[in-house]
Amino acid sequence: MSTASQEFDYIVVGAGVAGSVLASLLSEYPDRSTLLLDAGQENPLDIGRSQGAFLLTWGDTEKNWAYQTVPQPGLAGRVVDEPRGRAVGGSNVLNIGAWLRGRPEDYDAWEQAGATGWNAEAARRAFLAIEATDRGPADLRGSDGPLRLNDIATPTALSDTLLDAYVEYGFGARGDSDGAVADVADRYQTVFVDGVRHTVADAYLTEEVRARESLTIRVGAHVSRVIIEDGRAVGAEVRPRSPASKMPTSAPASPWAPCSCSPKAPVPCASPPPTPPTGPSSTPVSSARKATSPASSKRYA
Ligand SMILES: Cc1cc2nc3c(=O)[nH]c(=O)nc-3n(C[C@H](O)[C@H](O)[C@H](O)COP(=O)(O)OP(=O)(O)OC[C@H]3O[C@@H](n4cnc5c(N)ncnc54)[C@H](O)[C@@H]3O)c2cc1C
Repeated sequence: MSTASQEFDYIVVGAGVAGSVLASLLSEYPDRSTLLLDAGQENPLDIGRSQGAFLLTWGDTEKNWAYQTVPQPGLAGRVVDEPRGRAVGGSNVLNIGAWLRGRPEDYDAWEQAGATGWNAEAARRAFLAIEATDRGPADLRGSDGPLRLNDIATPTALSDTLLDAYVEYGFGARGDSDGAVADVADRYQTVFVDGVRHTVADAYLTEEVRARESLTIRVGAHVSRVIIEDGRAVGAEVRPRSPASKMPTSAPASPWAPCSCSPKAPVPCASPPPTPPTGPSSTPVSSARKATSPASSKRYA
């Protein structure tokens, strides 16, 4: 296994919901370089993107980290599957795709807990900037953001019955759950457009964004270590990902032998890497624009 180093201004680990947005926004600085790393691969336009197929995706151990809980005493010792997305798009490649804002008081609680500027009003402005709802322009909904949000194309009669029951039992009225009143019964909007999943990564890592010289995306890049110097994260170490396997949620005994703990699908463990270089990194920033899979251990700073 060989090692090589490259330097970037920003490194974002994980091209999921948070990472894809962050890398997209950072790459708006033309004079700064941003590296986006993900252990998974690109999320292709395949059957797994269709609206009813998320359970299919949960069985795909390429796209799913396929964590499992420890045996649950409250469930007669059963182990429970905990799907998490492993692809560009993160858990958004296999989640339900429901779009529901949180309650305003929850966002205000962030600020009360010390996150100055993170409150319901800031969240509202962010939602307006993100959303492109098919419900049309409204004061409280965004209609020209990058993320397309659609009403469910074929709502069932059962869902109407449930919504009516909510009203009948006096919990509140039917209305827009992202409107002025939070406690209403509503069908949530989704990220499915004409039955096809459009992830946050699709919305923020468009062809135009990917073409930026300031952005490099590496898939199949499992970050095995964040390099901390003087209490500050200064780099990341990447190794090629080991074969897909079920992994328990409990911490593995060694970061270099993550598969040995798998009770379901044991696979050979990765060899420990050589000691990483300690001198300053000097390899120039890659100008490659296409996502590539690293073949050996790499160090990014
Ligand atoms: C089954 C399920 C259903 C859900 N349903 C909904 C829903 O309907 N609506 C909703 O709003 N939310 C839903 N969620 C929650 C939502 O998907 C998450 O809150 C969101 O994806 C979290 O974003 P994130 O960026 O923190 O993580 P993720 O989106 O999971 O992204 C993390 C990324 O980091 C990568 N990564 C992890 N470790 C490494 C490493 N060591 N090296 C390199 N890359 C790494 C992963 O491969 C992944 O791509 C659901 C979640 C699950 C699991």
